[in-house]
Amino acid sequence: HQHKKTALVTGANKGIGYEIAAGLSRLGFRVAVGARDDGRREEAVAKLLSDGHDVFGVALDVTSDDSVAAAAAELEAAGGLDVLVNNAGITGGMPQEPTRVSAEQVLGVVDVNVVGVIRVTNAMLPLLRRSASPRIVNVSSTVGSLGLQTAQAEPVGPLSAAYSPTKTYLNAVTVQYAKELAGEGILVNAGCPGYVATDLNGHQGFRTPEQGAAIFLELATLPDGGPSGTFRDETGIQPW
Ligand code: NDP
Repeated sequence: HQHKKTALVTGANKGIGYEIAAGLSRLGFRVAVGARDDGRREEAVAKLLSDGHDVFGVALDVTSDDSVAAAAAELEAAGGLDVLVNNAGITGGMPQEPTRVSAEQVLGVVDVNVVGVIRVTNAMLPLLRRSASPRIVNVSSTVGSLGLQTAQAEPVGPLSAAYSPTKTYLNAVTVQYAKELAGEGILVNAGCPGYVATDLNGHQGFRTPEQGAAIFLELATLPDGGPSGTFRDETGIQPW
């Protein structure tokens, strides 16, 4: 399998991440299924393998520097990394209206959804820099779009001082990475999967995880010289 490109998907044991892993395998990648819980990871890997996918499990808790460093070492030993999909995310629980949210709640969500992305990205960058076509894909949300939230008509998203602002922050971080890595051929983009039925929202979403995964497969396989520092969903570029 040395000729295959390798992709890492964080939080890939279920939901959208699981379908991104399956989709990347279908596109010809060897996929590292990043997941923090051994049992849940092994179960997901077994299921993906039984469906014929080219996957292997990597222990990865995005809130732990040690776990992230160990995952990077494991990927290096396994031959490197071409595509990183930062998918792991949490809501931090409800309620989270700004007047009711707790500091602890906010810090917990920021640690996973924002700092987790920075931890993993920086640990994987030495490997990505050795790839011929490195891509970094951040799983964001239009609920983090300030443009859409302040639009005169149909403002998007719930009252949320924890989850939604982490996606605003993630979008801002995406732009910063794209700027710093411009010229190195590393494309860094953020996407929104739409409202997808997963554990994250008690399966309230109306899209399937497979439908949600599609935009990230597109961003993971952008052509060389393609866009970087963009935020989009399947309907096109979205406002920051
Ligand atoms: P799920 O709850 O189904 O999946 C979340 C995944 O993240 C799980 O694999 C979970 O692992 C993992 N995770 C959570 N914390 C950590 C951690 N500290 N380290 C490693 N992995 C972790 O939700 P979704 O599939 O819906 O969410 C995936 C991404 O999509 C998130 O970033 C979310 O914000 C984003 N998104 C989702 C939308 C939707 O409508 N569902 C809309 C817009 C964006 P575990 O099983 O161990 O908890």
